[in-house]
Amino acid sequence: MESCCWLILFMEHLKELEGKSVHDYYHQVKMERPIWVPGPVIVGAGPSGLAAAACLKQKGIQSLILERADCLGSMWQFKTYDRLCLHLPKQFCELPFMPFPKTFPSYPTKQQFLDYLKAYADHFDIKPALSKTVVSANFDHRCGCWRVKTTEGLKKEETEYVCQWLIVATGENAEEVVPSIEGMDEFEGPILHTSSYKSGTMFCGKKVLVVGCGNSGMEVSLDLCNHNAHPSLVVRDTVHILPQQMFGKSTFGLCMRLLKWFPVRVVDKFLLVMSHLMLGDTAQFGLHRPKIGPLELKNLYGKTPVLDVGTLAQIRTGKIKVCRGIKQLRKERVEFVDGKAENFDAIILATGYKSNVAAWLKSSEIRNGWKGENGLYAVGFTKRGLLGASIDAKRIAQHIQHCCKPSHLHIQSNYSFLHPSQL
Ligand SMILES: Cc1cc2nc3c(=O)[nH]c(=O)nc-3n(C[C@H](O)[C@H](O)[C@H](O)COP(=O)(O)OP(=O)(O)OC[C@H]3O[C@@H](n4cnc5c(N)ncnc54)[C@H](O)[C@@H]3O)c2cc1C
Repeated sequence: MESCCWLILFMEHLKELEGKSVHDYYHQVKMERPIWVPGPVIVGAGPSGLAAAACLKQKGIQSLILERADCLGSMWQFKTYDRLCLHLPKQFCELPFMPFPKTFPSYPTKQQFLDYLKAYADHFDIKPALSKTVVSANFDHRCGCWRVKTTEGLKKEETEYVCQWLIVATGENAEEVVPSIEGMDEFEGPILHTSSYKSGTMFCGKKVLVVGCGNSGMEVSLDLCNHNAHPSLVVRDTVHILPQQMFGKSTFGLCMRLLKWFPVRVVDKFLLVMSHLMLGDTAQFGLHRPKIGPLELKNLYGKTPVLDVGTLAQIRTGKIKVCRGIKQLRKERVEFVDGKAENFDAIILATGYKSNVAAWLKSSEIRNGWKGENGLYAVGFTKRGLLGASIDAKRIAQHIQHCCKPSHLHIQSNYSFLHPSQL
């Protein structure tokens, strides 16, 4: 019955295809009828989506990536600051089957990472369908397929794709988190999210309040300091700050090795002793540590420790001030919860990001971070960065390969000419 339904769809689309090139089919012609994709549809052409497409390709399974931006790796392209380098050493950030070039430094720059993503897509001949925003995805129980709707361009032209497998790769950082702070409308200076911050050049000589003390907030404060701005950092919560390197090795790499031999709590104790020796007592600067150790906290709540890239030294010299939480904003003034108040020229919100999946993926659950029901998968949602995304991608490709029933494989071989990789 199921194969029969697929066959009907296939025949309908064959008719549609007559006289049109495959390129037209995917990228130019605005179809009113759904487009049947003879393989998984991947939503998002960031590192996770590319990794998933490459792993599938290695298994001989073609896929189609739908990406809302007009390029791949859009988060890195558009939403990151100029001085950004990978926070973790390159060996922990490479995507499956292709290491970083040997000439790249241990912590590649943002541009080098983008070059790597481009080379990765070229190597595996992955050609995402760009400028396609997925606005909804529903599992249609009648035909046992996913119906994925996209919009494109100013006119929001709609296209519907039908597929058997749906892989969510829209990332944990799809939308900015913008807190609502009392008096935000009243504040006269610019208020921007770190996703729009490029460098401290335009803030030279200005007093800037950075809200949030994660990796981005700490690094943006340092960048402002390096551009002769006067940053203050709002620290509302407790935070673990660790040195980026220990004994000349990356702290992350060291943790990975130690965790093979010792339980998390023991490794946490080691990290805290070393951090104290190398960075001193961060509480004296208003940066109090959580009661739970850094790795245990990451495991339990997904909260990533800050890897210090030089910010703490500037906090110590007083060039970066630490403030308590904001109570409210006035025209130029910021009032803090501890009763202090100060004038600022600008505010930068380093308040993080959130996923957008709930807005377009209807009534579906993803278990264990990577797999749901009815051929639904997710890559890059386990709060383990690029390493986690690579693990997910391999696992998903393996699983889909096992799910390819002989009848489906037969149909797929008939469909193969439809795939965008053959454009
Ligand atoms: C500043 C910063 C530095 C980081 N540094 C590291 C690091 O050094 N090492 C590490 O392991 N991790 C790092 N991470 C964490 C994480 O690995 C990266 O965020 C990585 O880019 C995640 O890849 P992704 O493909 O899952 O998500 P993204 O890179 O966010 O890609 C998701 C893609 O999906 C697209 N998309 C979203 N919604 C839709 C939709 N509805 N329809 C179509 N397309 C859509 C987006 O446009 C985007 O291109 C960092 C994160 C940040 C923010």
